Amino acid sequence: MSAGPAIVRRVAELREALAHWRKAGESIGLVPTMGALHEGHLQLARRAKAENSRAIATLFVNPTQFGANEDLASYPRDEAADRALLGTAGADLLFAPAVDEIYPSGFATTVSVARLTDHLCGPHRPGHFAGVATVVSKLLNQSLPNRAYFGEKDFQQLQVIRRMTRDLDIPVTIVGVATAREADGLALSSRNRYLSAGERARAATLPQLLRAGASHLADGRGAAGEIEAVLAGLHAAGFDRIDYVTLAGEAELQPLSHAERPCRLFAAAWLGRTRLIDNWPVE
Ligand code: AMP
Repeated sequence: MSAGPAIVRRVAELREALAHWRKAGESIGLVPTMGALHEGHLQLARRAKAENSRAIATLFVNPTQFGANEDLASYPRDEAADRALLGTAGADLLFAPAVDEIYPSGFATTVSVARLTDHLCGPHRPGHFAGVATVVSKLLNQSLPNRAYFGEKDFQQLQVIRRMTRDLDIPVTIVGVATAREADGLALSSRNRYLSAGERARAATLPQLLRAGASHLADGRGAAGEIEAVLAGLHAAGFDRIDYVTLAGEAELQPLSHAERPCRLFAAAWLGRTRLIDNWPVE
């Protein structure tokens, strides 16, 4: 495998490279990631390259979106492998800044999006979406892309970023990309590598239950009964702790008692020390 795209670590270098391309009339697609890349990330990168003349990826494990008891220190990191994978997906540049390049001493600003963060992961991860919105607004201002690509796997994050760019008049098109899954339905995630073999075997119960629940909701059944069934199925499969199972509208992410399309069935639950999230649209 080749070494992959050139790496820049400074905002000034990033701006210089991109200004050059922009001046030549090229369009730019941005793919923000925290690394430990998998096929889901590569799908975003390939889409960025297909829809823009240049695709740039960012690799930054953003400390402000991790809670005090979360996995910031142990989050998987392998920059050389990530860079090589990005090369296979056609990425032209990798921006991999150090923490103090993004948060220099004296940094004092937070971007937070109200209401959309009231439910789902919001209450379980205080400060998480403010950390995401802050770093993504910085990455967008640093790179000024035409389009930026985010996965539907993190659907609440995608909607928070859409609202943030709209509310702050950031001139970028946010593109949502369908969730890449393993053959048994498990959504690809950098955190899947924390799962033991036994946990991995049980993990696909989560998307399977969401898919079945979403299909019953599409037939007009009420949310309460379907949520009960998903909770029971998750407990039976050995999920130790369930943060939530919620039917919510796509636009505002507020809970619903019956399907009002477009809506999705969302869940977050733990297998041992690994927190899995997923969602399934009600067609
Ligand atoms: P992360 O590195 O986990 O912060 O993810 C970076 C981007 O990749 C985010 O926009 C995620 O939503 C997206 N992503 C992660 N996993 C998947 C997946 N299985 N399918 C599609 N997109 C994904």
